Amino acid sequence: MFSDTSGTATLVRERPLTERKAGLYGNVLYQFSKAADLYNLNPAIRKILSETNNELIVHFPVKMDNGQVEMLTGYRVQHNNILGPYKGGLRYHPAVDTDEVRALATWMTWKAAIAHLPFGGAKGGIQIDPADYSSGELERITRRFTYALGNNIGPEYDIPAPDVNTNAQIMAWILDTYLMTRPPNERNSCLHVVTGKPLESGGSLGRDKATGQGVVLTIERWAEESNLRLDGVRYILQGFGKVGSWAARLLKALGARLIAVEDAGGACFCGNGIDPDDLYTYVLEQGSVAEYPGAAAIDHEGFFSTEADIFIPAALENQINADTAPLLNVRLVAEGANGPTDPEGDRILQERGIDLIPDVLCNSGGVIVSYFEWLQNKRSESWELDEVDSKLKRKILCAYEKVRDRVDEYNTDWRTGAYIVALSVLERVYIERGIFP
Ligand code: NAD
Repeated sequence: MFSDTSGTATLVRERPLTERKAGLYGNVLYQFSKAADLYNLNPAIRKILSETNNELIVHFPVKMDNGQVEMLTGYRVQHNNILGPYKGGLRYHPAVDTDEVRALATWMTWKAAIAHLPFGGAKGGIQIDPADYSSGELERITRRFTYALGNNIGPEYDIPAPDVNTNAQIMAWILDTYLMTRPPNERNSCLHVVTGKPLESGGSLGRDKATGQGVVLTIERWAEESNLRLDGVRYILQGFGKVGSWAARLLKALGARLIAVEDAGGACFCGNGIDPDDLYTYVLEQGSVAEYPGAAAIDHEGFFSTEADIFIPAALENQINADTAPLLNVRLVAEGANGPTDPEGDRILQERGIDLIPDVLCNSGGVIVSYFEWLQNKRSESWELDEVDSKLKRKILCAYEKVRDRVDEYNTDWRTGAYIVALSVLERVYIERGIFP
């Protein structure tokens, strides 16, 4: 099963979801159970979706610039593939572990089902801080990890994409390594093994901005329904990476004003508004928003307490919790990140009447345009940007309507409504196909 014979690979199966409480996957369990109860999900399908299909851990050696060898640990969890090939990003971060990746993989299954994509859910990553490695080391780490994953990824089986601390360059290395392991006559038919590639290497126009664009499209629709003009709206943003910086740059064109921003290095505030384009250039050079000269430094609590209309979390999980949810002074939380709100945070937001566009809907623009990239590669096509943009808009707004309909039908919160959309699709397919044998 594994092509990397000198590293060790373990296919781990752990206890069922229902017995695990703590950790990020515990949050998924909580959200899932709430929706499954309300929807009255078929008990057999409930059992199936409560488990991940495959959980892979690979330990692999990499030669460092100083000649030493480091053993690294990589993960790939495949939650479910009843709707199509597994799909989900790869994250390079010290906090990556089975619990985190399992949760992120499961959210991908719901996300693809809500957006009506022919994909299942997966996620992976390597437990490293990429800032500790040179570019050459990152290339060798990426290539060796890809090699260790072997046939556990594939263009019609499991398709990775960028996530936290990974980018188009890393996708190009994955592509090249994967192709080198294929027979020469198959290589050109495998470009869609990974999405989020650089344009010249088979990427799609519009993929870089797609997740941020999806966040903005859902915010626009919410604003329309709330009779709020985005021109002049004030918002705060956590995370100024791929998702956050694109959301901010696109919101600028709509007249929205970014007044506070936080990243891993710190936070800053400017009541008159921070120019996202200028901040983007600054962060490219300086690495963080923390000391941006156009704003005053604030602390974590000050950031969360900033009065605004909208909060866009676009960094990591569990940021809106029992400590921070009471501080928020906004009308809407639009979840650009995956899992930024824990169950206690959710409860407090609901109690305080703060609207929420849940991650599995709000940030689905990324996987939607990844699907378009995958299709273009399969058909040897390259679509114009306006075609990608208009198809993304249609798909994500259609998902938005479906979620709103379920929210109304079940008189429930938006996260639960989104889950019910996903669960009803998955349930229908399982019932139609039956359980083998
Ligand atoms: P990225 O690596 O490009 O950016 C991450 C940002 O988060 C950086 O600005 C970083 O400084 C900040 N950050 C990290 N730790 C932080 C902390 N403790 N406090 C505040 N800020 C912190 O990653 P990304 O691709 O923009 O992903 C961000 C989120 O969006 C993740 O939850 C990811 O899973 C989710 N997401 C990404 C995509 C995508 O297409 N890239 C798609 C869907 C969802």
